Amino acid sequence: MTTTRDALEQLRSALAGVLAFDAAGGCSDDELLATMGALEAVGRVVDAHRAAYAGEVAERSRVELGDQRLSTRHGCRSAAELVERVTQVSGVEARRRVALGSATRAGVGFTGEPLEPPYPLVAAALAGGELGADAAGTIIRELDRTRPVADPASFAAAEQALVTEATGRGDGAPVRCTADELRVQAQAWSIFLDQDGPEPDDERAMRRRGFRLGRARDGLIPVAGDLMPEVAAKLTRLFDAHLSPRSGGGFMTDQERADIARNGETRTADQQRHDVLAAVIDTAARSGEHPSIGGAAPTVLVSVRASDLETGRGVAHADGVEVPISLRAARHMMCTGGTQKVVFDDDGRIITLGSPERCFTPHQRRAITLRDGGCLIPGCSVPAAWCEIHHVIPDAHGGPTHPDNGVLLCWFHHRTIDTSGWGIRMHHGVPHIRPPAWLDPGGGWRPITKSPTRLADQRERREPDRAA
Ligand SMILES: [Zn+2]
Repeated sequence: MTTTRDALEQLRSALAGVLAFDAAGGCSDDELLATMGALEAVGRVVDAHRAAYAGEVAERSRVELGDQRLSTRHGCRSAAELVERVTQVSGVEARRRVALGSATRAGVGFTGEPLEPPYPLVAAALAGGELGADAAGTIIRELDRTRPVADPASFAAAEQALVTEATGRGDGAPVRCTADELRVQAQAWSIFLDQDGPEPDDERAMRRRGFRLGRARDGLIPVAGDLMPEVAAKLTRLFDAHLSPRSGGGFMTDQERADIARNGETRTADQQRHDVLAAVIDTAARSGEHPSIGGAAPTVLVSVRASDLETGRGVAHADGVEVPISLRAARHMMCTGGTQKVVFDDDGRIITLGSPERCFTPHQRRAITLRDGGCLIPGCSVPAAWCEIHHVIPDAHGGPTHPDNGVLLCWFHHRTIDTSGWGIRMHHGVPHIRPPAWLDPGGGWRPITKSPTRLADQRERREPDRAA
């Protein structure tokens, strides 16, 4: 007798015989696309059955069964975990299959009569190989949220319309839409189905709100989440306030200001929003109003080998993120946050513990703020409270942690100060700045401040000349 399992095994070897793994390379363009479509059709059938089996595992693992749950008997906490263990797919994929399988599985009533699956049309299209698992999952995810409140007839109409869109069967829908296009339509339906007003929406939003850091990708950490509308509104205002280029710099002519407004900003809007967020985070961490960690204000520990810093080759590591950070980032953080030198012997024992960090104190910061007023780079509107203090002569080169050697720079201008071409130096304790050559060819050093009180001083000194 041939079992389903034997038949699948035969099918698998038959498929391996039909498809050479590198065959795609030898296809013409037309063959390539046609074969890809045909493969997907096979995949849809396989996916439908994968979901069906996962749904059955879930059914046999339902909570009422207690110790007799299939998952429990196999030492798993849930049906999804059992699916995960048997198939070696990710937890996300296992849960997706269980959800899809459960939503498209026919039930059995108390007296043994068959019950329709929760999504009969999705189930039929899935079983027929017309609907892919991700499209089916999209329909179910979006509609499920409205099921408790939706009118049943409208709910059925929504399922019908979405399945028709996805399978291209209906009139006027000759082109099947992709799972992403389907999501947009499904969301429109879900809004239509749940018009219950703001109260339930708000509760749902409160449940679903979230913010998370993802796994590192290409040296960057993705963020994702869902903000409450009022939080998004405040964040948007904060971004807007700093996204428009503004004039700045007391010494500049209108023409120079216009040049900088036109040429000075090389960041995209996304990049500028990132930098605003960087400043907000720094400001918040500095505020002293946050819970301490082990008695200290929340501080990021960055470790780097002194020899790497000297040669300029290697990486640094920051606590709490898995990807290494660049030496330039490490230098930037050292300039703002200070350093402590720790020397190990060959066995790894600590033999020298350097003096603690060289950080500007709050009262030094207040003094520097009065003098500089905000990020010193002309055209930059980042206010003093959001700025970092840059050691003009680095601590490592003997630069003191003294107001005469510290100036305000925003996160971005501090991070790029070595490469941007802007020059900063101190002259008798007054910051002077020199624009990059591309911005101001032949330009020299000029004193700079954005401090309103110092600008008022300068105006006052000019007044008597004019009167005379
Ligand atoms: Zn700046």
